[in-house]
Amino acid sequence: GATIGILGGGQLGRMIAIAAAQLGYRCHIFAPDRESVAAEVSADFTCAPWTDAAALAQFAAGCDVVTWEFENVPVGPLAAIEPLLAPHPRALETAQDRLKEKRFVESLGGTPAAYAPVDTDEELAAAVDRIGAPGILKTRRDGYDGKGQWRIQTARDADAIRLPGAPTIYEGFVEFTAEFSVILARGHDGEVRFWDSAENTHVGGILATSALPAGEAIAAQVAPARELAARVAEALGYVGVLTLEFFATHEGPVFNEMAPRVHNSGHWTIEGAATSQFENHVRAICGLPLGDTATTAAQVVMTNVIGEDANSAHECLAEPGAHLHLYGKRQAREGRKMGHVTRIGQW
Ligand code: ATP
Ligand code: MG
Ligand code: MG
Repeated sequence: GATIGILGGGQLGRMIAIAAAQLGYRCHIFAPDRESVAAEVSADFTCAPWTDAAALAQFAAGCDVVTWEFENVPVGPLAAIEPLLAPHPRALETAQDRLKEKRFVESLGGTPAAYAPVDTDEELAAAVDRIGAPGILKTRRDGYDGKGQWRIQTARDADAIRLPGAPTIYEGFVEFTAEFSVILARGHDGEVRFWDSAENTHVGGILATSALPAGEAIAAQVAPARELAARVAEALGYVGVLTLEFFATHEGPVFNEMAPRVHNSGHWTIEGAATSQFENHVRAICGLPLGDTATTAAQVVMTNVIGEDANSAHECLAEPGAHLHLYGKRQAREGRKMGHVTRIGQW
């Protein structure tokens, strides 16, 4: 069988590797951290820094295709293995910088929150003056799970903020009615399939739940959001699973951010859809036909197991219709995603 290389060693890689194994593929993980929950379910593991060109070349030599599960893999060293990569690294390059990402999506007709790049105190004051408060200051790069973000309630808050010393972006706060994501798979031949859009809730900047069916506020906005997501995928020549996060507002869908990969808000597809996001990602990057993305249950709720909640996670196994996924992480730190539960049909 062929070997799939995966850049990144976290739970997304673990679930890609599990789906790949079912289709008869071997996985080889490349990640800088010795502890890797993806490597634990894979045939091979290269533990090396992202910038170790020799290790990366040797890793790639043993792979038939290389993908990623971590969106902050430095793009520079990937140039050397570009022919093997799926999706194309231009998707990473775009999504790794919130400013670049917003400009790109705007150029395709999408509407982000009002925003301004901020590198100095003066630029922050000017941005808050123009866009108004409340708003959120975010680092342009490397943020996830709400890390690298500062809420600004009033112009005075902005005066008190110490910039992080890395480029940031100020975004106006979007008064949304709900949040949802569009997750699609795009094949080698350009075929695009969408999963149903779940309604996402966040607690403290971290995804808490994804539920289907989504409420009416979302249902009406999925069509234009999908059109935008398809244009994004097309423009990037994308192959694999791509996610766009949106705010449903009275003015229509407002683009939040994209993730050029499988996504936490798509974990429900393992039990709740005919083909999971992980399997379709594998199918797409391996040049296989895409599977049916239809939702197979009337109601689906995915709940993340975060931090110490992992200690009592097994309790859900007493419920019929509850599917527990624990990622095998050794330490349950606060705010750390330890697993998830998908409840089908009843809860
Ligand atoms: P992840 O990549 O893990 O989804 P992240 O760190 O990139 O998270 P964002 O998606 O930018 O963070 O923000 C996390 C959450 O914070 C959003 O899903 C939303 O609930 C809230 N949020 C972010 N930006 C805005 C905004 N401009 N207006 C209102 N809410 C926002
Ligand atoms: Mg993000
Ligand atoms: Mg997000």
